[in-house]
Amino acid sequence: MPHILNRQQLDVMQCQMPGCDHKNHPSQFFFHSRCHITADCEVSYDNKTGLLKIDCGECGTNICLVEVAG
Ligand SMILES: [Zn+2]
Ligand SMILES: [Zn+2]
Repeated sequence: MPHILNRQQLDVMQCQMPGCDHKNHPSQFFFHSRCHITADCEVSYDNKTGLLKIDCGECGTNICLVEVAG
């Protein structure tokens, strides 16, 4: 079962893009897969669980699940 991220956890997370200086996105960060760092992400939402699922667009490996605030 992948780890489910909530707002408290997301608020302290940082962009993990290699070589990024974070100057252009002070309050944002971007999700990237570790397996294919330059690949697109595949994002889906499940209305049964209220979870946003972010997968690697190249191989489908799950990056994380995000709990949507209600
Ligand atoms: Zn950054
Ligand atoms: Zn991948």
